[in-house]
Amino acid sequence: MARERQEMVVELERYGISNARVLDAFLTVRRHLFVDAQSRPYAYSDNAMPIGFGQTISQPYTVAYMTSLLVERVPSGKVLEIGTGSGYQAAILAGLGYRVYTIERIAGLYAAAGRVLDALDLPVQRRLGDGTLGWPEEAPFDGIIVTAAAPHEPNTLMNQLADGGVMIVPVGDLGSQQMTVIRRRGDRFEHEIFHSFAFVPLCGREGWGDNNE
Ligand code: SAH
Repeated sequence: MARERQEMVVELERYGISNARVLDAFLTVRRHLFVDAQSRPYAYSDNAMPIGFGQTISQPYTVAYMTSLLVERVPSGKVLEIGTGSGYQAAILAGLGYRVYTIERIAGLYAAAGRVLDALDLPVQRRLGDGTLGWPEEAPFDGIIVTAAAPHEPNTLMNQLADGGVMIVPVGDLGSQQMTVIRRRGDRFEHEIFHSFAFVPLCGREGWGDNNE
């Protein structure tokens, strides 16, 4: 599906994704391996798709947008992703050379993503559990990407950022969230707000809780 992948990258460029490293990662990672058999023919269309358990693989533009926000601020290092889902975002981050840690709360998705990431031999450390609690044993992180909708800035995660580290997180209500970039400067946090997106809810202790599916 190399031609479809190439066309997806052309479309991402048309939508304003310009970072060469990001575009290159999208050319390399085989997105069709991260979706169900039924969705495979559409894997390179710019859409979110169901991955089971009421969850979705984010649309390529959204993954590229968040990844660009990270790459432009933190070009390398250790990155934690919250919400492994299909594993696609984690694979893109690994393709960019980050040391990747990812947490998923749904066992079926954790297992399925693990199988794909292992088959591709990608160096991604995985954990099953509530990602809003972060991964204290591996903190601090140079980057944290939250790929689900947070009701407010997730405090525990912010405190697992390295000095100068950056978190990319959609913050808002269940219908719409603003992409937020939080940079740690010592004990202070700087904020930048970007476009609106619509993510599935971030569950867990510092999310929307565990009873909203
Ligand atoms: N990054 C994913 C997108 C997955 S959608 C991809 O590339 O496919 C968001 C994911 O976040 C879902 O799989 C959902 O189960 C997970 N999630 C939601 N709340 C979570 C939490 N508190 N901890 C870990 N994972 C969570």
